[in-house]
Amino acid sequence: MTHRPSPEDGKLWAGLGLDVELHGKILASIAANYDRQVESRPGRPAGMRYFDGVIHGSHGDRVREVMAKQAAGAKFVGTFCVYVPEEILIALGTVHLALCGGTAASIPYAEQTYPRNMCPLVKSTLGLAMSGACPYGPLEDLAVGETTCDAKKKTWDVLGREGGFHVLELPQKKNPADRALWLEEVLAFARRIEELTGRPLEAGLLAEAVRLMNRKRRALARMHELRKAERPPISGTDALVVMQAALIDDPERFTRELEALNEELSARVAAGFGALPEGRRRIMIAGCPSVLGNWKLHHLVETSGAAVVVDESCTGTRYFTGLVDEGAAGLDEMLAAIADRYMTIDCSCFSPNTERMENAVRMAGEYHVDGVVQYILHACHTYNVEAIAMADALKAAGVPSIKIETDYSEEDIGQLQIRIEAFIESLEFRRGG
Ligand code: SF4
Ligand code: SF4
Repeated sequence: MTHRPSPEDGKLWAGLGLDVELHGKILASIAANYDRQVESRPGRPAGMRYFDGVIHGSHGDRVREVMAKQAAGAKFVGTFCVYVPEEILIALGTVHLALCGGTAASIPYAEQTYPRNMCPLVKSTLGLAMSGACPYGPLEDLAVGETTCDAKKKTWDVLGREGGFHVLELPQKKNPADRALWLEEVLAFARRIEELTGRPLEAGLLAEAVRLMNRKRRALARMHELRKAERPPISGTDALVVMQAALIDDPERFTRELEALNEELSARVAAGFGALPEGRRRIMIAGCPSVLGNWKLHHLVETSGAAVVVDESCTGTRYFTGLVDEGAAGLDEMLAAIADRYMTIDCSCFSPNTERMENAVRMAGEYHVDGVVQYILHACHTYNVEAIAMADALKAAGVPSIKIETDYSEEDIGQLQIRIEAFIESLEFRRGG
């Protein structure tokens, strides 16, 4: 979000037909949160300046960049989920970014028409679209949704009313028949993007895109490796900002900047320098994503005396875990390899989803986690119900956990702070610290 709009930004939004005043108000609310919860925190690596810029420029410079690419002939595609195969979008020369809403400020616009008891991520997304405060709406050549949870599925009917929408059908199980369906969906998606761009998918360009996305995943994985250090070189809140930037920035530039940040983080680890004070209890956040505009839980945990060392979410490990096989030759094999990699994502919309619990327990060990905060957005039934199995699996592995169910509002901050502080205190007691 452009938190500090320039006069040029105002002209840009007016030119896109946005409600400039309302847009300014929504951005001001996000700006206040970012300043307080992220930018003003001590111990930040110098390399975070680039990622701050991505966040600040998301309603300004990035919009201008999308427009320039469109003027040069590229199509713009908006996405809402980590199941969208980005390799295909890159190989066909589109510019793409995630449009999920992370701000409470747009929610009232959705609640005027749609049920209040939907998850805040969906309501915020709908609200941005309905209030005319999303600068990407007027630019979109295509939006891509997916049949994950019910709230999202029905939202695509609303957002897709005027066309320009593609829905990927995601199976709910991972049996051979489901894998076959998913491969068909990936092939149909490739055909749709070919139609949109008027270009055929070329094996050489797809191989290049696979390598780029794998490089991006490796850079994200390296940042996470560094977070395993006794004194993590980056706070969980800043690591979240990097993950949020990963979903909206140009993939090539983002990867370059993250590789540079990783060098700085690596030097910090070598010097034994941590982003947060020494001896903090190590927390894994597991469950729903925290998309751009939402730093609430990370801020609460890290101002309650703990450090978030890993996110088991789509704004965490779910986004980058698993590479696409670069050994696949020819278009068919490459598309199958892409389908295979995306099918390993362990979203709670799958049933059963035992690999998610296994992965979480494994990561709790690898990141030396003292406790897990299960993050459940209000009305997210899949993660909420799955929280029972997750708590059981963690308990069996000797890892304490707590479930925090919340939305984007500030109303429950006091009560959440008390619960989180008590949980962290209980971890101190366990460790005898
Ligand atoms: S939690 Fe599930 S539905 Fe949401 S972005 Fe992740 S994979 Fe997609
Ligand atoms: S947080 Fe849960 S309810 Fe909301 S979009 Fe994601 S899966 Fe659906």
